[in-house]
Parts: sequence; structure tokens; C-alpha cells
Amino acid sequence: MGLLFSLLIIPAGAMQFFQSGLIRPVYFPIISFFVSLFSLRLVLAALSLFSVQMLLLLVRWPKTPGVFLEMTDPGEAAALVLSLFLTAVISSAVIRRLRTEKEKSETLLSRIAKNAREISRETAMDSLSTEDTLSHYFSSMLKTDEEIGELLVAIKHAVFADSASLFVPEEGGFVLRCSTEKKGEIIISGDGVIAACMRDKKAFSSGEIDDKKLSLGYVRKLKVVSAIAAPIMEGSALIGILAVDSSRAHAFSEPEKNTVGRFAGQLVRILERERIYFMIKRDVFGLRILREESSNLITSLNRGIIARKLCEGAGKIAASQVYFFIGSGGEYDLVYHNSDLQTDQKRFSFEKTVINFAIENRHRHYVRDLKDYQIRILPFRTEAARSVLAIPMIYERTVLGILVMLSENVDFADALQISLLEVLCNQASMSLANALLHSKIETLATTDGLTGLYNHRVFQEKFSEELKRHGRMSGPVSLMLTDIDFFKKINDSYGHPVGDIVLRGVSAILRETLRDTDIPARYGGEEFAVILPGTDGHGAKIMAERLRTAVMEKVFNPEGRAFSVTISIGIAVCPADAKTKEELIEKADQALYGAKHGGRNRSVLWSAMA
Ligand code: GH3
Ligand code: MG
Ligand code: MG
Repeated sequence: MGLLFSLLIIPAGAMQFFQSGLIRPVYFPIISFFVSLFSLRLVLAALSLFSVQMLLLLVRWPKTPGVFLEMTDPGEAAALVLSLFLTAVISSAVIRRLRTEKEKSETLLSRIAKNAREISRETAMDSLSTEDTLSHYFSSMLKTDEEIGELLVAIKHAVFADSASLFVPEEGGFVLRCSTEKKGEIIISGDGVIAACMRDKKAFSSGEIDDKKLSLGYVRKLKVVSAIAAPIMEGSALIGILAVDSSRAHAFSEPEKNTVGRFAGQLVRILERERIYFMIKRDVFGLRILREESSNLITSLNRGIIARKLCEGAGKIAASQVYFFIGSGGEYDLVYHNSDLQTDQKRFSFEKTVINFAIENRHRHYVRDLKDYQIRILPFRTEAARSVLAIPMIYERTVLGILVMLSENVDFADALQISLLEVLCNQASMSLANALLHSKIETLATTDGLTGLYNHRVFQEKFSEELKRHGRMSGPVSLMLTDIDFFKKINDSYGHPVGDIVLRGVSAILRETLRDTDIPARYGGEEFAVILPGTDGHGAKIMAERLRTAVMEKVFNPEGRAFSVTISIGIAVCPADAKTKEELIEKADQALYGAKHGGRNRSVLWSAMA
């Protein structure tokens, strides 16, 4: 207090020395300055001491010029003292208010910085696979706007601005992302300072806005006279503009510019976190589709279903027109597509098309922009495609099929989408290989290796099925049993391999002569069975005669020794002759026996036997 008192005496001494009261007003800033440095109580105490001292002097030596601040009237002196006290009290109130605002902004700023740091740490640490992680990110994401809002309020207070807003680039222009003002109170007018900052990635600092010379890029109810716009940079990319404004002229200077710059740094963290969140969400979403679609693929052994599921899964990963071809020997069948292609042709060759690169290199081929490609994309017309991705399905070095994705957009798939699609195709190629293997095993298990006809087991199954169906539909079903005449002699005369050729030749005649609905099978040795659904005795007899004649007319010519064979046929009809499978087989066998006894090379209906 002693120091303050001494400091207050100095100007009084100066006035006495110069015998002039002109520097009296200097007391007002001095008092304000003291209040900003020391407590109000201390300043008031020093001021009281000073006033009492001076007033005492005035009372003691009234009318003596120069005694108290060059004043002679005690009333005038008292008024001055009172205004000094008032100045101290008001300055203290103003300074206290400013300090509180500053502290509030700093607390907010440090809280936001802490949040941003915590979340960036978590981003690097956590596994992406759990739903918990995703929902955690989701909930933290929801707070982004709130955090930006709080930060903008802090900025507004810190630099005594009227409003603070965040603008983000969009489609060549910019939009308002967040503001301290209510919705609709900031109206984007485009271009101006904000657009220039976005373009040049440079700050517009403490500039004065004059509508005629310089527009800001947005308007508010109050006329904006001063503004600062700071770019928000993530590395070298601009992700937003932080703008503060004021209706006062010269509202901002260098310190305010620096403060806004620091806040822009905090906004980067919040926006960066938001971007990372979207990336993670996309990755997790992609992986989830991959997991679901892959398991869908595994569960099927039907290549048509595999093709459909693969295309549906691929379309979910990257929206596009999807075509799937399964092929062998340079020719590919179009098995599935989701485009509006209309063609009767099902088999295609990819020669001289963009897709051929993928087949020849056995590696995916992605064309981001087809603009400069002269060669055809696919072997058929494709509408307005701008980018294409072809992924071959490789299994044990063989191309089993190819997935082709077309889009009207340039660069329709990014690196993540392409690698997810590759994994999906890899899974599909294994499923396809499995399906192929399965169908091979199934063929082995159901067909006869020599003739390619159904084996005895399948004949039994099919015959049961047909009889059951007959029961429901009440149409007739005929059964033919066929036996080659004197087959032993063929083997004996020409050898067993020639016998095999004859068996193959007869089975070929069966296939060629019978209708699609008829079911031939190798019954055993040189005996064949034929199921004729929907055929009565009359129809079966005609078919049997046609077969018998065809076999008889066929000339075998192994090693230049021409010969031909004949067959005998026995026929039984359901329901005319019998209803059960066993009885029908029995009766057909009896008819066959009849044909043999009747002289061979003939067909006999069981019902016609005497
Ligand atoms: P039939 O007119 O009475 O039927 O006289 P067949 O000589 O045909 O008499 P059978 O039906 O008993 O003869 C069947 C012969 O068919 C016996 C067997 O050696 C021969 N055979 C059975 N399976 C095969 C085969 O897979 N390949 C060859 N080459 N011969 C077979
Ligand atoms: Mg036989
Ligand atoms: Mg025979």
C-alpha cells in the first residue's frame, strides 16, 4: 500500500512543480492500471490515504494555490476524489468480468483438447472387430457438433466477437457446419473472403469488411465490419474455415488473430476424429458384409446360387452393374447379372476386350476411367460405363470364372472396396471349386463309368419316384428291360474291349432315340432299363421297336471287321400290369425272357404274352 501511495503522490508533486493542474486526468488511467494489477481493496485503501492527505492539506492551507492538485475549491476536490473512487470500482468490475470470460474459454479449450487427445489415443489402440467398439465410436461421434459448438462459443468470448462459425467445403463452394448463432441467422452469400481463404489456404486476418469493396461470403442481421477467417488444415488438405466477426470497426488485431489460429488447431483434431470415425465405420461395415457374404457362399454347392450370392455381395460392397461368368477353354457362360442386358447368347469369349487383361494376367484389372480406352469392355454392348473392375476366380492356377463390375462413375471403387471384393472372389472361387468337385463326385456316384447312363442304384430310386408321381397324377408308367443278344459271343470273337465299344454304342442309341422325359439306365452287364413316364403299353411298344431297329441297323467296325448286334426287350406297364416296383421289374423280366425264347431281336409286352 505504501508503494501505491508513493506512486499516487508523484503526479501531485509534478503538478506542484509545474504549477499546472492540466495533468490531473492522468489519475484515471493510473487507478485503472492499479486495479488490474492489485486487489480493489488495496487500491481503495491507498486512494483513501492519498485523498485524506490531500484534503487535509487543502483544509489547512485553503486558498493556497498548488496545495492540492492545483485546486482551491474543496467541493471540486471532493468531486475529483469521488470520481477516482468510482473509476477504481468500475474498472475492477470490468476487469473481473474479462478475467472470468477468459478463464471460461481456457477451461473449455483445455477440455476439448483433452477429449480430442483421448479419442485419438483410442483410435490407434482398439480392435475394430467388436460391436462395442463401433457403438463407442458412434456415441463419441454424436458429440462432435456439440463439441464444435462449445469451442465456437469459447472462441467468440476469447476474441470478443459477435459470432464464430465453422464453414466446410462442399461441391466447389462451402456450407455452414456450425455456428454460435441460431439456425438461419447466418446466410451464405458465396464467394468473398471465405471462398478466397478456401482457395488460397491462407488466413484473412483482422480485415475490415466493406460490402462495396469486399464481401465476407456470408451475411448476418448485424452488419459485419471486422472479421478474421482462419483455414483449418489437416496436413496439406483444407477441411474448413473458422470465421469470427464483429460489428465494431477495428475489432481484431494480431493477438486475436493468433487466438483464432490456436482454436483452428483444436478444430482440426475434432474434424480429424470425425473423419477417422467414418473411415472406421466404413471398414467395419465392409468387413461385416464380407463376413456375411462369405458365409453365404460357403453354405452352397450350387453354382447358380454361388453366382447370385457373389454378385449380391459384390454389389453391396461397391454399387455397380455386376456380371458373373463361369468358363472353361476360353469360353465363358454368363451365369448371373444385375443389369438390364437382354441377349439370348449365353456363351462369350473375352478376346479383344478389357476383361481379357484380367484373364491373361490372372490378376484383377481395374480401369478407373475408361475414357481413353479404345477396345471394348465386354463382348456385348454396355451402357455408358466409365470404370470397370474385373476379378478372375483362380483355383489351382485355373481361371474358373470372372466377376465383372461396371459403373457409370469414374473410379467407382477405392482400395479398401477392391481388396474386400478380392477376398470375396477368393472365397467364391473356393466355393465354386467345391461345387465342381461335389458335382464330379455326385456324377461318379450316380452314373455308370462305361456308358455314362444312370447306374442300377439310381435306376431304382428314379423308378420309385416315377411310380410315386404316377400315384399322384394317375398317368401310366412303362418299364423296358433290354438285353443284348448273344453278347458273350461278341466278347469271345472280338475281345472284351470291343464288347465295351458295343455297350457304349447301344447306350448312345438309347440316348439319341429316347425322349427327354424317358430315363435310361445301365441295369447290369449288357442289360439296360428304361423308365417311360406317361407312356402306356402301346407307346412303349412303339418306342421299343424304334430302339430295336436302330440298334440292329448300327454297324460296328472295329479294326475293319464289320458286324452288328440285336437286342431283346421286355415291357411291363403300370398300372395295367402291376403297381409295385418289384412286380413291374419281375414282369418286364418275364417279357424279356419271352422275347429271348421267341427268337430274340424282338420286343414283348408282358400283357401280350400268352
Ligand atoms: P443272351 O442272348 O441269352 O442274352 O446271350 P448272352 O450271350 O448275351 O448271355 P448273357 O446275357 O448271359 O451274357 C452276358 C455277358 O455280358 C456276360 C459278360 O461277359 C458280358 N458282360 C457283362 N458286362 C460286361 C462289360 O461291362 N463289358 C463286356 N465287354 N462284357 C460284359
Ligand atoms: Mg444278359
Ligand atoms: Mg445277353
